[in-house]
Amino acid sequence: MFISFEGIDGSGKSTQARLLADHLRAEGREVVLTREPGGSPGAEEIRRLLVEGGADRWSAETELLLFNAARRDHVERRIRPALEAGQTVITDRFADSSRVYQGVARGPALRELVDELHRLVIGLEPALTFVIDLDPDRALDRSHARGSIEDRFERLGPDFQRRLQMGFRALAVEFPERVRMIDGAGSPAAVAARVLAALG
Ligand code: C5P
Repeated sequence: MFISFEGIDGSGKSTQARLLADHLRAEGREVVLTREPGGSPGAEEIRRLLVEGGADRWSAETELLLFNAARRDHVERRIRPALEAGQTVITDRFADSSRVYQGVARGPALRELVDELHRLVIGLEPALTFVIDLDPDRALDRSHARGSIEDRFERLGPDFQRRLQMGFRALAVEFPERVRMIDGAGSPAAVAARVLAALG
C-alpha cells in the first residue's frame, strides 16, 4: 500500500508519517518510510540543488522539472520496488506537494504543466493521502521553534502559507476517494489517533 502525508511546512506531517510507520511496523507490516524531495540517493542530490541557493536560483518551470526528476528517481529506485515486494510505503510529501506548491501557491501557477508532467513521467498516485491541516501561524511558530525557518522555501511568508493551506484543502475536494483531512492541532499523539481513525 502506498500512503502519502502532505501539509504546509511545520504542520507536523513528518512526525505523523513516522508515527504511522512505527504503528504499522508494530503490527508486523514491512514499512518503507521515505520523503520528498529526496528519498533515493539521486533524488537527495537533486534536493540539495532545490533547497540551497537563493529564492530566484531557478525559474518556476525549472524548479518543477527538478522536482519531477527527483520524484521519478524516487519512484523508480525506491517506491516501485518496495510496492512490488509487497511492502507498505509511507512518503512525507509526493505529487500533491507539486500540485499545491508549484501548481497554485507559487507564482506563476503551473497547475496544467504539473498535471501534464505528472501524467508523462510519474503516473503513480498514493492509495491514501493524509493532509495534516494546521493554521499557518501555528505552523510557522513550530518551524521557528525547530530552527528550520532558514530553509529558502519557508521564508516566503504568511500569505504564501495561507495559499498553501487553501491549496491542500482543495485537494480533499478534488480527490475525495484518497485524500483525508486531519486536524493538526494538539499533541503528536492526539493527531496520530486521528490519522489511525481515518485509516479505518
Ligand atoms: O517537507 P520538507 O520540509 O522536507 O520540504 C523541503 C522544502 O521544499 C519545503 O520547505 C517545501 O516548502 C518545499 N517544497 C516545494 N515544492 C514541493 C515540495 C517541497 O516547494 N513540491
